[in-house]
Amino acid sequence: MLEQKINEIFGDKDHTGFGTGWWSGVLSAFFGLLAFGAVLCLHFPQLLTSPALRPYYSMYLIRLLIQVVIVAAIIFGVVSAMLRRKKVLALTGMMFALGATLLGGASVPINEPINEGPAIGLDWFLLDMLLMTLIFSPIEVLWPAYPEQSVFRFEWLTDIVYFLSTHLPIQLTSFLILLPATQLSAILGIPAVINAMGRLPWLVQFFLAILVADLAEYFIHRAFHKVPFMWRFHSIHHSSKALDWIAGSRAHIVEDVVVRGFILIPMMLVFPRNINVAYLLFVTLHATWTHCNFGPTIKWLEPFLILPRYHHWHHTSQTEGIDKNFAIHFPWIDRIFGTYYFPEDKWPDAYGLAGEKIPAGFWRQTFYPFTRTKAA
Ligand SMILES: [Zn+2]
Ligand SMILES: [Zn+2]
Repeated sequence: MLEQKINEIFGDKDHTGFGTGWWSGVLSAFFGLLAFGAVLCLHFPQLLTSPALRPYYSMYLIRLLIQVVIVAAIIFGVVSAMLRRKKVLALTGMMFALGATLLGGASVPINEPINEGPAIGLDWFLLDMLLMTLIFSPIEVLWPAYPEQSVFRFEWLTDIVYFLSTHLPIQLTSFLILLPATQLSAILGIPAVINAMGRLPWLVQFFLAILVADLAEYFIHRAFHKVPFMWRFHSIHHSSKALDWIAGSRAHIVEDVVVRGFILIPMMLVFPRNINVAYLLFVTLHATWTHCNFGPTIKWLEPFLILPRYHHWHHTSQTEGIDKNFAIHFPWIDRIFGTYYFPEDKWPDAYGLAGEKIPAGFWRQTFYPFTRTKAA
């Protein structure tokens, strides 16, 4: 298995705490890979950058960011090489940073005119990976709910492939997600409703948007649990044996498109565009956070807003938590519909599928729902 090979090549038996050269090595390799990918984007912008993102780029800032990432890869590489016996991580990071520099670094000119047309969202993958890692990895490392759980826990690579798989074909997936909602809102949309909504205070609109989205999410999520054919897709999201921010990206592409598309329909019928965009930002951060291996909690907030411990109970393989906690923002939605389970101060002991086996790895899981296997 590739993951095992990578763990063997890059890992070692030494301690991984601060000051051991472990984190600096990991960061060096991470930044080196990001830098290399970013320079490739500069060389092949037509093929490797998303047309939807291009208009928003400040090339000055992007080039500055690439420079920072290259320098970070080298500095962390040097630190790690000095502190740690095994130098593979440090060397990998520095090699990629050097490769990125030799390919022209941050100053590769973009000469060709860039047209719309099919492209791979490598830029989106790199930027979102950097952003999510910067936001969520530090809090997981500093305040974990399960301190013994490593960042490189079982099947970490599978989940990175899932993250890739939702970012690279961004053009296609966003088209599929938007299609039903735009068609329906063109036919059924009542401009007066959206205008009236737009006159409410911004915070009220935003709260209502989260509520409408979570109600839609509740029903489609519950359907994914209760309809056996749909469960074959959703079981993949539940197959994670340990949760962290990247585990949240493990979802079958069909489920991803159906759930997002389904939620967008009422949203586009009721709310103005700026509210829908604000909600998309919110759901990305909130849903990712609820999967985090993050222990601290805010007691008084727990009944009102979903914090990681709540969604972790949705992922448990313990009988008491099965088919509970379908909401993703407001726990009281589960209370209303009788699917609430939230024991005080306790985290689950086990995660994953109870008594069910699904294949390992991205491709086998992608084909799994379509293959008829007899239950053993
Ligand atoms: Zn679920
Ligand atoms: Zn989840």
